[in-house]
Amino acid sequence: MSLPTGLPVRDDLVGKKPYGAPQLLDVVRLNVNENPHPPSAGLVAALEKAVGEAATTLNRYPDRDAVALRADLAAYLTRQTGVPLDVGQVWAANGSNEVLQQVLQAFGGPGRTALGFEPSYSMHPLLSAGTSTGWVAVQRPADFVLTVELAVAAVREHRPDVVFLTTPNNPTGTETTHDVVRAVHEATSGMVVVDEAYAEFSDLPSATTLLAELPRLVVSRTMSKAFAMAGTRLGYLAASADVVDALQLVRLPYHLSALTQAAARTALAHEAELLGTVEAVKAQRDRMVAEIERLGLTVVPTQANFLLFGPFGDPARTWQALLDEGVLVRDVSTGPGLAGWLRVNAGTVDETTAFLRALATVVA
Ligand SMILES: *Cc1c(COP(=O)(O)O)cnc(C)c1O
Repeated sequence: MSLPTGLPVRDDLVGKKPYGAPQLLDVVRLNVNENPHPPSAGLVAALEKAVGEAATTLNRYPDRDAVALRADLAAYLTRQTGVPLDVGQVWAANGSNEVLQQVLQAFGGPGRTALGFEPSYSMHPLLSAGTSTGWVAVQRPADFVLTVELAVAAVREHRPDVVFLTTPNNPTGTETTHDVVRAVHEATSGMVVVDEAYAEFSDLPSATTLLAELPRLVVSRTMSKAFAMAGTRLGYLAASADVVDALQLVRLPYHLSALTQAAARTALAHEAELLGTVEAVKAQRDRMVAEIERLGLTVVPTQANFLLFGPFGDPARTWQALLDEGVLVRDVSTGPGLAGWLRVNAGTVDETTAFLRALATVVA
């Protein structure tokens, strides 16, 4: 996609590329870290009922503050992380992408900067660009693991208004320790966002355990990954009630549709069933790790439902060869510090088998 020439588009957007992971249908799709397990027939029936009930009031605007949904999310986070949270500390939007955009709208913006440690989630710089927030990219070490020294030095040097830390980190799968989170919070007067999109796949404690201690901490989560609800578009964050209040200044009124709120609450009521897929996904991930290593390739140690594998001399060609075998993975190799690497997420047993067969063929 090229920019529409002749349009008075903002100068700071000229030359930028939109987010664009391929969406292909007739292949095994392992490129956007989705949970491969579709909702059960029972959950689909419950969703039909809940969305049907919400439909009877669609002439009215939805609950602007999504109070019932946020209370359910707070209860879930309290159970999942062991940290008591109430509705005033939780905020929700259309995917954690919108949550992060709102954080940048409130705490970033023109004349301000956000800092991230790359390679990391490619949407952090794109959301910064969209909100006219300057982006400062700091390179991770070769093993992708952030140290307190490196993180603190970067924050002291660049004095960002918002710092992004991602754990497990996408696309590397690596952990960011709470020592780093604490040290970064101490080194900055800005906001510290810990993106925990993959938390339910890891054994790591949640950064919500630090909320009482760190007033400028924001922990973002999503129902798109472990919760197997990417199509619903529901992300959320936990922070102090003051942070949630600040976000009210930038959120669009009625941003979460009544249908979204109903679907998300229904999914949360089926937590056990949906998160019941996590162990199966992790088993397929572990199978991938073992088999890829058996082929003589390297896998970066991962705490998530995906992994980085390589290195490949011509990763774009390997990506295409895998696609020719019917398997879509993510070519991250053009990203900062990622030369030679591809990313793949765990699928169902059959999808994982298809990937491993394709890879064995391609590297043979
Ligand atoms: C997938 C992902 C998200 C999820 O975004 P949604 O808008 O909630 O679908 C957020 N952060 C990271 C690091 C991710 O990989």
